[in-house]
Amino acid sequence: MSEESIKVAVRVRPFNQREKDRNAKLIIKMHGQSTFISDPKLSQDEAKQFSFDHSYWSHDGFTELPSGILEPSNSSSPYASQQKVFDDLGRDVIKNAFDGFNCSLFAYGQTGSGKSYSMIGYGANRGIIPIACDELFQQIEKTKNSSTRYEVGVSMMEIYNEQVRDLLTQDFPKGGLSIRQHPTSGYFYPQGLRVVPVGSYTDIEHRISEGTQNRTIAATNMNATSSRAHTLVTIYFDQFIKDVHGDTKKTSVINLVDLAGSERNSSTGATGDRLKESTNINKSLSTLGNVISALADISSGSKRKIVVPYRESVLTKLLQNALGGNSKTVMIAALSPADVNFDETLGTLRFADRVKRIKNTVVVNEN
Ligand code: ADP
Ligand code: MG
Repeated sequence: MSEESIKVAVRVRPFNQREKDRNAKLIIKMHGQSTFISDPKLSQDEAKQFSFDHSYWSHDGFTELPSGILEPSNSSSPYASQQKVFDDLGRDVIKNAFDGFNCSLFAYGQTGSGKSYSMIGYGANRGIIPIACDELFQQIEKTKNSSTRYEVGVSMMEIYNEQVRDLLTQDFPKGGLSIRQHPTSGYFYPQGLRVVPVGSYTDIEHRISEGTQNRTIAATNMNATSSRAHTLVTIYFDQFIKDVHGDTKKTSVINLVDLAGSERNSSTGATGDRLKESTNINKSLSTLGNVISALADISSGSKRKIVVPYRESVLTKLLQNALGGNSKTVMIAALSPADVNFDETLGTLRFADRVKRIKNTVVVNEN
């Protein structure tokens, strides 16, 4: 059993066309592990400084800066490709899974900041999830002739409006799947969630794109945008090992989470379903914020008795292990570089700053 901090990385995306058209100013600077954000209303030297395990500049951002504050030649900012981000963050996830640890990786940030780009990727620019799945099966292939047998399963769900929808089936029961609590471990899970056995990278890739498609269908049916839902891909990895010591089973649950956009939903003028929706979405994210704050206070040695409000939202029930529990957890905070997003970006950096203070208690799942 060991105590481990949640690892936190921040990644800034390039300016998008709209920001370029509006001549948006750059407010983020990175230097080594430090990230600086300047308030567009104040002077540059009043920039706030944060420090994380990794600070990633976008892969093609340097040449696009309209303000010319950072140039590739004189900047020490890391140049982060999808592969680089995987090598730093994803590779360990796979290694830890083989060692029998639960792992979680989640992306946080406002809509359009690069969460899905980092997690899933677009086209040939594969993100952490596909590269990690590829790596998992390559490792399995390498050890195939040994006395170890592997079983891999995948599930994919969406939390929207406090309801859980299974993304690996076509029918979405009204009201969603119900959340149950495991009688011995105490952890929460969605009852009846489909876990599909997968035997190769192609298999798992196929399931994830099926789920991604169902996600869009679900969002359209609900007259919503997918940016308001949380998506959870879970990989169940079991190893059955035969050696001189007898039979051992190692298990690992890998949670990969693309969170809903963290921007404050303005509920002005919302009524009926819209209002309920807005409140519930805020509830999941605001509860996540409260859970993070409570855990950060506990880790900082607060003497007060602190109750962590996991039970107050579906998202935090399902992420209980990932946050403050038995899991090696990594968070990627996705950032916009532009002045117009200052408030949201500062909010994301503050959130990330609390997350890095959290300590999880991890144990090997072996018997
Ligand atoms: P989110 O999932 O947070 O709403 P996306 O991941 O869809 O945002 O990103 C929004 C847009 O920005 C996409 O067109 C994506 O290709 C682009 N983008 C995001 N991050 C990067 C990056 N690191 N490098 C290049 N393009 C990026
Ligand atoms: Mg997205």
